Amino acid sequence: MTRAAEALIDLSALAHNLRRARQAMPGSRVMAVVKANGYGHGVKRVAGALRSADAFAVACLDEAEQLREFGFAHPINVLEGFYDAEELRRFSRHHIDATVHQVEQIEALESTRLERPLKVWLKIDTGMHRLGVSPAMASSLWERLHACDSVGGIGLMTHLANADDRNDPTTEHQLLAFAGAVGQISGERSTANSAGILGWPAAVCDWIRPGIMLYGASPFGDTTAIDEGLKPVMTLRTRLIAVRDLEAGERVGYGGAWSSDRSSRIGVAAIGYGDGYPRHANSGTPVLVGGRRVPLVGRVSMDMLTVDLTELPEARIGEQVILWGDGLPVEEVAQHAGTIPYELFCQITSRVHFHEHSG
Ligand SMILES: *Cc1c(COP(=O)(O)O)cnc(C)c1O
Repeated sequence: MTRAAEALIDLSALAHNLRRARQAMPGSRVMAVVKANGYGHGVKRVAGALRSADAFAVACLDEAEQLREFGFAHPINVLEGFYDAEELRRFSRHHIDATVHQVEQIEALESTRLERPLKVWLKIDTGMHRLGVSPAMASSLWERLHACDSVGGIGLMTHLANADDRNDPTTEHQLLAFAGAVGQISGERSTANSAGILGWPAAVCDWIRPGIMLYGASPFGDTTAIDEGLKPVMTLRTRLIAVRDLEAGERVGYGGAWSSDRSSRIGVAAIGYGDGYPRHANSGTPVLVGGRRVPLVGRVSMDMLTVDLTELPEARIGEQVILWGDGLPVEEVAQHAGTIPYELFCQITSRVHFHEHSG
């Protein structure tokens, strides 16, 4: 028997979610974020379904070159920029744009002769305190970039740290800090990630950078895709490979972490953390068996997990099991596993078979 675990990717949902981003900020151009293999969905199919985006964004040069190899001619912004002069030449050769977030990168631009000048995005740190130059330095560094032969265009960007909480004033402070830093400078602006696009109208800008929303998951902790007008893209599913009856008090799985005080019917599904299903999903995490919700019970193991079918006695070996996606919000599973949809998507392993469909 081949591995039953499958990820079904709905390409029309990707296109729908891109339209949702455009509808939220109609005047903006879209830099679709497809880093980390398209958030685990397979970057080639994702970029293909999102080819009407105005640009792509990825984390590193390898990911950008891969998109070029697949034949995408869009502008591509590498969000961590280049690490050294050798990389810088590859950026230039492949027409790839770079986020510039520290002075060392500007020095490399000033001291390297390139085949053709690069478009750069000057990243300003307005409170995330991860990458970016200080707001006070923005205009002098822009002047240096402007004077540099290796630079062919300069955008201005920042990244929001707390936009996933609609009540957190940090976002307003960041937007004000950004406006202050770039006030006199000319150039396209980019501030909004998914949470900014959906939750913060004031984050409207020339270029929006949606990531997670394109994959049909809410960036917020307290809503699901449907609430945000998004369609889930990935359905993770498998099959029941065994069903068994246990006496009251018999313990299930490693560590005997779960038992019931009633006699129970237990189903074994062919999926585990070796496929990327989170090991930390707790007993009670919802799973759909034959379209009905049942609770996960006991510890998730590498190849299997167990569910309580006592309330679903008709469930049979071979029955379809959905772990998230169609009919079961990934946000809910993430909460039970103490994580976020981003991580669940990225953790799917190569053992899972991917299939794509439209609608
Ligand atoms: C990953 C990333 C995004 C996309 O964030 P989402 O929360 O997935 O929308 C946007 N901008 C930058 C700089 C990023 O690193």
